[in-house]
Amino acid sequence: MTEELNPLAIVAGQMKEACDELGLDPAVYEILRKPQQFYEVSIPVTMDDGSVQNFSAYRAQHNNALGPYKGGLRFHPEVYADEVKALSTWMTVKCAVVNIPYGGAKGGVKVDPRELSEAELERVSRGFIQKTYNMIGPEIDIPAPDVYTNAQIMAWMADEYGKISGKPGVGVVTGKPLNFGGGRGRNKATAQGTVHCVEEAGKKLGIDMQGATAVIQGYGNAGSFSALLMEDLGAKVIAVSDSRGGILNRDGLDAQAVIDFKAENGSVQGFAGAEDITNEELLALECDVLIPAALENVITSENAADVKAKIVGEAANGPTTPAADETMYENGVFVIPDCLANAGGVTVSYFEWVQNNYGYYWEDDVVAQRLHKKMVDAFEGIYGYHEEFGVKMRDATYLAAIKRIAEAMEVRGWLSK
Ligand code: NAD
Repeated sequence: MTEELNPLAIVAGQMKEACDELGLDPAVYEILRKPQQFYEVSIPVTMDDGSVQNFSAYRAQHNNALGPYKGGLRFHPEVYADEVKALSTWMTVKCAVVNIPYGGAKGGVKVDPRELSEAELERVSRGFIQKTYNMIGPEIDIPAPDVYTNAQIMAWMADEYGKISGKPGVGVVTGKPLNFGGGRGRNKATAQGTVHCVEEAGKKLGIDMQGATAVIQGYGNAGSFSALLMEDLGAKVIAVSDSRGGILNRDGLDAQAVIDFKAENGSVQGFAGAEDITNEELLALECDVLIPAALENVITSENAADVKAKIVGEAANGPTTPAADETMYENGVFVIPDCLANAGGVTVSYFEWVQNNYGYYWEDDVVAQRLHKKMVDAFEGIYGYHEEFGVKMRDATYLAAIKRIAEAMEVRGWLSK
């Protein structure tokens, strides 16, 4: 892997720049440049055919200056240690950005869930909890869904945690189903946060979302809800994609019909009334809003100059490399960085955890209104740094977050005497 694509090198560089710009005690960067804990465990699972497969799993607990570690858990065949460490660092930044009392964590199991039966998937999920039981907990580290994990997987995990601990322990993970401690609005929360940011960016740039064109890469949780929510704002979703490729209809796709088609056929490709395109072609389409909602490193120095969107709202984590970010900045593309744009997910996860702890559950409108306020406040705060320091929104995000984290470290007595 080249240095440009190494997520750990990327995030360390971003942290260093922000610490220097803020003139912080060198101890801040020294502490933030690596996770406080990193665990690697293996999960032996009896497969349906009686054989045993031993899956590698990781959990990085980056920093808990602001509160318990919090972050998603992905099931993906290519998960690797540096990726998980980088993602845990972005979680620390993200929680600080939306001002919720959490630190950052991330986990991954090296498995392709699409190749497992439901029973095997359940055994992997429960196995993860059996192996990490001592490292996580409602007051220690709270996982949540991420790529290829979902509410059902969270339910198995919370149940397993409850069985081992002998306590309900329902707040050990968030993103659970509604009938088992889930919080309202969690499903669409990440996308909702992204779309709130896109709307705010539109106001700053004079782009009305009514009639705007949107392109979305990745059509899972973050991507498909982004499509629906952009439609709600009156935008036209002209292209979407998944791991197999994309589809384009310049007159607009019906986002719900594409969701139904993918559920039935396994991919968006082949959707009637649209032409198939590649993921590369999708990123280069003429549009007002581009939402990367798949994986890291999709906009790089190779293709950044081809991006013609006016606003890029990063629902995915780490979709843009620093070199690509610079190119888009020079070309006048307004990039809403991941740690701000996709913070709606962890915000509503926080709401779910608060509700679990209280045993008192909020209605949809309360969640929606509180999420909206969190996102708009965060966007405005970061936009303020962007203007005051004359820096990219991404750099402004790091400045705002690291200032908050450094203040907590200072008051806790973690810095140089
Ligand atoms: P998901 O598993 O629900 O969906 C992922 C989608 O990406 C799928 O449609 C998949 O086909 C597609 N995809 C995979 N590889 C691709 C490729 N090479 N090109 C194009 N599409 C590809 O995952 P998700 O939860 O929607 O997560 C997507 C991104 O959003 C990730 O970067 C994740 O870290 C980030 N994110 C998710 C949440 C959340 O609450 N789910 C919160 C914050 C950030």
